[in-house]
Amino acid sequence: MEKRSAAMATIGWIGLGHMGSRMTANLVKGGHTVLGFDLNPAAIEAAAVGGVKPVASLAEAVRDVDAVFTMLPKGEHVRAVYLGEGGVLAHAAPTTLLVDSSTIDIDSARTLHETASESGFRFVDAPVSGGISGAAAGTLTFMVGGEPAAVDAAATLIEPMSGNIIRTGGATSGQAAKICNNMMLLINLAGCAEGAVLADRLGLDPQVFWNVASVSSADSWALRTWYPVPGIVETAAANNGFAATFTAELANKDIGLALAAAESTGTVLPAAQLVRDQLQHLVDSGRGDRDCSLIISHIDPAIG
Ligand code: NAD
Repeated sequence: MEKRSAAMATIGWIGLGHMGSRMTANLVKGGHTVLGFDLNPAAIEAAAVGGVKPVASLAEAVRDVDAVFTMLPKGEHVRAVYLGEGGVLAHAAPTTLLVDSSTIDIDSARTLHETASESGFRFVDAPVSGGISGAAAGTLTFMVGGEPAAVDAAATLIEPMSGNIIRTGGATSGQAAKICNNMMLLINLAGCAEGAVLADRLGLDPQVFWNVASVSSADSWALRTWYPVPGIVETAAANNGFAATFTAELANKDIGLALAAAESTGTVLPAAQLVRDQLQHLVDSGRGDRDCSLIISHIDPAIG
């Protein structure tokens, strides 16, 4: 069933990749008008199929809209898009609500909150969890940090894209929650990879082992959504030769954010460090653009 929001809005959306293309389609289904921009023209064309109105520049996307959403790879991209010459702060009216749903470092998020506020804007950090399957289904979990009134305004717009909207607290708290969540996810994924290979070598049928684990204490979102063995889970990249649903490069970024946060808080995270080394190796060996579940190739080099 389509989820319709109370007030229809015009939204400027920057970043129409794996996630943004699917999230915008649900905003359109929810009755909103979405003006979409991406540096990659093919991404804009693909999003237009979902009902996004294509525009040719960032300025066109953010001028005269009620809200701007960004769904970009890393902190450096988000800082450039908001703060750069010709960026969002330069072109949007200060009444425009600004929502960043990318996963980025806490220092960048803090800079964005502070600079936006100094320029008279409301800004919230609103990263998401649920992968491209959750983005397509409109069931993402949003973790939203910022001033309560801005968070409430963002929540109204977020509704058609989400299964859960969790108010995490003040500025940057959404990113803090997301960084911890993704660190746990990627450790779970590494566990799935090790379990899948060992089960195979012990002669277990892969489907039978998955059936056991999914109703036993090894169950996890990674197991049910990204299981790195072909033919078991419909949404897994393993079914498509590990073509990316979430790239190894972005996963490496996320676990790196956790390790940076660990360093700044004096926390030792040995499991995260191990997974980071495996993802870094995928990137260094030229496989950063493939799916992060290819981490299984560390356990069985014949895969991928
Ligand atoms: P992606 O690389 O598929 O999409 C990012 C898009 O941003 C690309 O189309 C790129 O061309 C565009 N872009 C980059 N710089 C730009 C600029 N200056 N102006 C306009 N467009 C620009 O990435 P994704 O998988 O959609 O992820 C986006 C964010 O969401 C990342 O921070 C990621 O960590 C996070 N995330 C991803 C997933 C997932 O499963 N893919 C899940 C949750 C969160």
